Formats: sequence, C-alpha cells, structure tokens
Amino acid sequence: QLENVGFIGLGNMGSHMARNLITAGYKVTVHDINENSMKKFSDDGIPTKQSPLEVSESSDVVITMLPSSSHVLEVYNGANGLLGAGSRLAPWLYIDSSTVDPQTSRKISAAISRCHLKEIKGYTENPMILDAPVSGGVPAAEAGKLTFMVGGLEEAYLAAKPLLLSMGKRAIYCGGAGNGSAAKICNNMAMAISMLGVLEAFALSQNLGIKASALTDIFNCSSAHCWSSDTYNPVPGVMEGVPSSRNYDGGFTSKLMDKDLDLAMASASGVGFKCPMGSEAFEIYRKLCEDGCELKDFSCAFRHYYAGKDE
Ligand code: NAD
Repeated sequence: QLENVGFIGLGNMGSHMARNLITAGYKVTVHDINENSMKKFSDDGIPTKQSPLEVSESSDVVITMLPSSSHVLEVYNGANGLLGAGSRLAPWLYIDSSTVDPQTSRKISAAISRCHLKEIKGYTENPMILDAPVSGGVPAAEAGKLTFMVGGLEEAYLAAKPLLLSMGKRAIYCGGAGNGSAAKICNNMAMAISMLGVLEAFALSQNLGIKASALTDIFNCSSAHCWSSDTYNPVPGVMEGVPSSRNYDGGFTSKLMDKDLDLAMASASGVGFKCPMGSEAFEIYRKLCEDGCELKDFSCAFRHYYAGKDE
C-alpha cells in the first residue's frame, strides 16, 4: 500500500534516506529545487519530478526533508505544492522529517485534514500526516540508523513504521500532531546545553593543568559521562573520527544548532515557559554564527569560547 514513495529534499540527510528506501525496494520518485542533487538520482535511473505537485501525483506517500519551516510551508502550500488544487491523484500519507517548530507541523496537519480528498478519490479516510524528525546526523542517515520521533495519528504511525525503519533503527511514537517536532527540539536543546557544559569543564580543566585525555577517561566512568564526552568529544586530539579531530568540519553545523535553539525558544515562549539554560545556549550559538563559525560543527564552541584560540 505504501509502495510508491515521493521524496522531496535531497540534501545531506535526504539523499541518503532516499537511497536507503530504494535499497529496501520502494519505488521512489524524487524532487529538489537543486538540479545537481536531482541529477545524481536521474543518472541512476531514479525518476525525478519538477515540482512537489508532480511528485504527489505518482506517490502513495510523500516524505519531505527540508531545511526549515518556511521551506516546508512552501513545498506544501506554495504554487505547485503538495496540496495544490487539482491534485486528484494524491498520496494518502505525508511524512515531514524536517526539523521544524511544532506549530508548523500542526498547521500543515490542519491543512491536510481540510483537504477532504476522500470525496475526490473515494478514500474511506482523509489523508494523514506525520511529523517525524530525526536524530543521528549524516552518518546515521547514510547507515540507515536514524531515530525517528513521530507525531500524528497512531494509525498513521503504525502504517509508516516499516518505511521509517528502512531509514532508521528506531521510531518512537510521541502523540498527536506536532509532538514529534516538539520532542526533537527538546532533544536538541538538551544536546546543546550538555555539549556546552562538557566543553566548559574541559576548558577549565586545561586551565587547571589537567590533560583532556585524562579528564575524558574520568568523565566516561563517572557521573559526568554523556554523549558529548564519550561519542562526540569536543576537544581536538581526544577522539578520532569526530569533528573536533578534523578542524570541526563536517558534522552538525552551528547554524543548524542555532536554528533548533531558535525553534525551542519560540516554542517555549509560545507556552509561557522560561528556559534559562536553553536561552544562554542560544545566545552562545548565535554569537558563534555571527563570528563566522556557522558552518563549523557545533562542538567548535570549545575552541572559540573557552580555549581562547582564534578560528
Ligand atoms: P540540506 O540543506 O543539506 O538539504 C535540504 C535540501 O532541501 C537541499 O537539497 C535543498 O536544495 C532542498 N530544498 C530547499 N528548499 C526546497 C524546496 N522549496 N523544494 C524542494 N527542495 C528544496 O539540509 P539537511 O542537512 O539534509 O537537513 C534537512 C533537515 O534535517 C533540516 O531540517 C535539519 O535541521 C534536519 N537535520 C539535519 C541533521 C544533520 O546532521 N544535517 C541531523 C538531524 C536533522
């Protein structure tokens, strides 16, 4: 029933996700505004389309993996968008895996529930939508090991689960529309704060004469142990294969972290909730981006703020 998959947004993440779907045997049709990204697929015989509307006409399900809320709204509601008038051959399931604010996910969900496509296509139900952002980054996207955080109708989640597990290792249901997006921005706010906490402690330790390698050994068998210390250590030379060991290139850019913290702060203020640590982290990442580090991995805050060395 979910054989024909439309995939929109063939960037760092989406290109790998679409490839994993193809490997899993789905019939995938792709679209991106970047012709070069599409060419890599058409060269391999994968059908490409010139607009989201055209993708929707050949798909049972459409997945979007776009930079931010404005891009997602454009792809759904814009001219020749997924919800364009006249789309009589529409998908019955939409999955947005972009990191966006929960309000955007809920706005699109409401727009879809107003579509009344059952009257057009004879569906027993209206089409459904899931917000299903991911954690794991580009290596996990490539390896098919992403974690999906899913909001929307549970019935849609269950239908989509095999598809999601073709691109990831886990899919966790979070509740109604927008809850996947809410979980994602909470995850990333916690990641920003814990990374800054760890790197601040490493910078202090260096000033107190303790080697980063020794402190890493201590953290990793002590109560400060966390992902930022054992998997993504921010201090150059401590771990191989992480951005800090290659001049903070590759990985999760400070610009994307700034975007996610912006979403978290906007969502918090929307419900009248204060996040003092989150807003401090947001200020640090905003400044990091203004200072020219927007394309460096977010762990570069170690060098920039606490080690006192220039870029
Ligand atoms: P990216 O910028 O590499 O890719 C986005 C793609 O969308 C680009 O190819 C772009 O051309 C395309 N696009 C933009 N507007 C479009 C439009 N109107 N129509 C069609 N295509 C359009 O971004 P990415 O790193 O792949 O990230 C995608 C999403 O995943 C973001 O929301 C990001 O926050 C999230 N995310 C990224 C990572 C990561 O490590 N990169 C990790 C987890 C989540």
